[in-house]
Amino acid sequence: MSAAVKTASTPHDQILTTDEVGRQWYNEVLHDGFKVAYEVTGVVYDSKTAHQRLVVADTVTFGRVVSLDGITQVTSEDEYAYHEMLAHTPILAHGAARRVLIIGGGDGGMAEEVLKHKSVERLTMVELDDGVVEFAREHLPTINKNCFDDERFHLVIADGRVFAAESDERFDVIIIDSTDPIGPGEVLFSSRFYADCKRLLNDGGVLVTQNGVPYFQADELRNTIFNFASLFADARCYLGVVPTYIGGFMAFGWGTDDKTLRKVPLKTLKRRFKSSAINTRYYSPKVHKAAFALPGFVADIVRAGRNAAKAG
Ligand code: SAM
Repeated sequence: MSAAVKTASTPHDQILTTDEVGRQWYNEVLHDGFKVAYEVTGVVYDSKTAHQRLVVADTVTFGRVVSLDGITQVTSEDEYAYHEMLAHTPILAHGAARRVLIIGGGDGGMAEEVLKHKSVERLTMVELDDGVVEFAREHLPTINKNCFDDERFHLVIADGRVFAAESDERFDVIIIDSTDPIGPGEVLFSSRFYADCKRLLNDGGVLVTQNGVPYFQADELRNTIFNFASLFADARCYLGVVPTYIGGFMAFGWGTDDKTLRKVPLKTLKRRFKSSAINTRYYSPKVHKAAFALPGFVADIVRAGRNAAKAG
């Protein structure tokens, strides 16, 4: 079960279409037999970077939508839910994160959330595609708030898989803010990559991952949990709701050797959140604690991944 699990993808000539009355649509096919369409008010960008087709369109319902190879990456309307839960949950659980690594994250939304923590002394972001970062600097300021200029921010343009294998840096929190397991992002769901990320963690560090929507991508989550359970003392996931990641809950992988991190008392999280003095629209200490309470169908996926790892 260590091979990454592929997702479907939108045929490139279907990403942007015009209907019979002249309305333009941005279409996403991430799951077989299921397509989502957003009515477009204007196409901001549609071209290939060195690695991916980047489409950015303004839409009626979700503001500015960023798509890579036909898969929705981030939208200006709901990006806060995803970025807040993937950034603040590990950082506030850790309690003393000084050095953070983001793999992926080209739009800058994750970096913006991490850098809200004044306790973070250095943020390294390893992004494959400098075309995404350059575009984001100019056209996605509502998402990244120009955080790239923060003196604590260090951008590395490289394949995250290679960086994880070769870096001699160490981190307290590692956030995998990647595309889905298709194309260049596929390597970021492999057992080798996760093992290399573990090597980069300081004692007491935590690795978190974007792990798709378990309702549609159960195999992807089970694969990550299988790999995490083979590497870490605590291999779990937590949940959030991001409307444009269609299909209900989104899962975030959680891997650490410090079992206490997942069980930090609410009182402690409240104290840490208050002293961080950050503003959020989705994350709160109570939401943090609740995010680890899994509905049965997700708990079953996690249990299957952990049991498969035990079986070896
Ligand atoms: N929020 C999105 C999601 O959950 O799918 C992720 C957004 S972010 C734009 C994903 C980034 O991962 C992209 O900028 C893409 O270029 C980057 N990426 C894909 N494969 C990569 C790799 N192997 N190494 C580093 N970055 C990669």
